[in-house]
Amino acid sequence: MSTFEQFEQHESNIRSYCRSFPVVFNQARGAELISREGKVWIDFLAGAGTLNYGHNHPVLKQALIDYIQNDGITHGLDMYTDAKEKFLETLHRVILKPRGLGEHVAQFCGPTGTNAVEAALKLARKVTGRSNVISFTNGFHGCSLGALAATGNQHHRGAAGVAMAEISRMPYANYYGDNVNTIAMIDKLLSDPSSGVDIPAAVIVEVVQGEGGLNTASAEWMRKLEKLCRKHDMLLIVDDIQAGCGRTGSFFSFEGMGIKPDIITLSKSLSGYGLPFAMVLLRRELDQWEPGEHNGTFRGNNHAFITAAAAIEHFWTSDEFAKSVQAKGKLIKERMQKIVRKHGPDSLFVKGRGMMVGINCPNGELAGAICKEAFANGLVIETSGNHSQVVKCLCPLIISEEQIDKAMTILDAAFAKVMAQDVNSAAS
Ligand SMILES: *Cc1c(COP(=O)(O)O)cnc(C)c1O
Repeated sequence: MSTFEQFEQHESNIRSYCRSFPVVFNQARGAELISREGKVWIDFLAGAGTLNYGHNHPVLKQALIDYIQNDGITHGLDMYTDAKEKFLETLHRVILKPRGLGEHVAQFCGPTGTNAVEAALKLARKVTGRSNVISFTNGFHGCSLGALAATGNQHHRGAAGVAMAEISRMPYANYYGDNVNTIAMIDKLLSDPSSGVDIPAAVIVEVVQGEGGLNTASAEWMRKLEKLCRKHDMLLIVDDIQAGCGRTGSFFSFEGMGIKPDIITLSKSLSGYGLPFAMVLLRRELDQWEPGEHNGTFRGNNHAFITAAAAIEHFWTSDEFAKSVQAKGKLIKERMQKIVRKHGPDSLFVKGRGMMVGINCPNGELAGAICKEAFANGLVIETSGNHSQVVKCLCPLIISEEQIDKAMTILDAAFAKVMAQDVNSAAS
């Protein structure tokens, strides 16, 4: 009898991450995942960026236990609750107001990232009365049909089964290399009444493309994009579902860039605890929803309100945490650059920003083999990118320097082994 019989017999073929990490996990703490047999892995996947504060953070766990012990509301549709009040107050005071976003209001949608993207797109179309939306090459925005239309990934798009329309795909920053100004290209298309590109309701963009392979947009490119939005009267939607909540070294990925998105989507690490939770932040003037016009049974997960408020209070009331993320991001990047210099200065390079960094390999097979080898030696790490060629670090932001060191040593050995095999197979 296979160890995985229950899964292989009774769960759909759709399962995916478990194929890369074929063990049964049953415990997790901080930056570590523990299998049923008691084997420990350092977690460089962290729920694809959902566990920025680690597994079972003691402060968040205690807040949740206390709330449940006290028979706090678990489900309340979108009714007023203590938990929601606390979250809204904390978010406004600690995050939004100090960042000049005090006039953005929160829309609670269904609990997943793609729910937030659907709500954002629908609102942009409703407010502007236009249907077209610009999204970018290698962008990832979710797998429900509206969000999927904006997503580039062929594997996901191929499963749609219907036409996906009302999106104009444009080249992301540096898509054609450093010397091509993609904003000027888009501007020309939008300025030409016969270009065939209908003036869009909005632009949806990731500041760092998580699933797309850690492509980054510079502050200058983002400012130009915002200007372009103003010029053509389009709304700027920043999808900060993966790059937000501290991942790049600040709460939002666009902080310090001098832009103010009209709409922001957040999910993944928003609850701080791995609980399903998503939200759209929108400028008050755009709040043209009729009550209940876009609804859903699970709008605002009260347990997530509790842990999200606790996370914001615990990590974001001073700049200490953000500084530690920046320092650890630098450390990881330096260690990755060392791996590149050692094992493939001509074929490897480091990509990304903050603690959202990775090593670009010549192809997906190589990157996959490296992740497999790392897993055999105690590191859970995955690939991303248009060819799955980027070995991507998304470790919890609370990881210790000692754990980073250990993980990087495992990664270094995996690169050494796989790159040597690759050279040998190329030679034979
Ligand atoms: C993960 C992700 C989504 C989709 O979130 P789901 O919870 O998987 O629906 C959307 N946008 C970005 C940038 C993401 O990383």
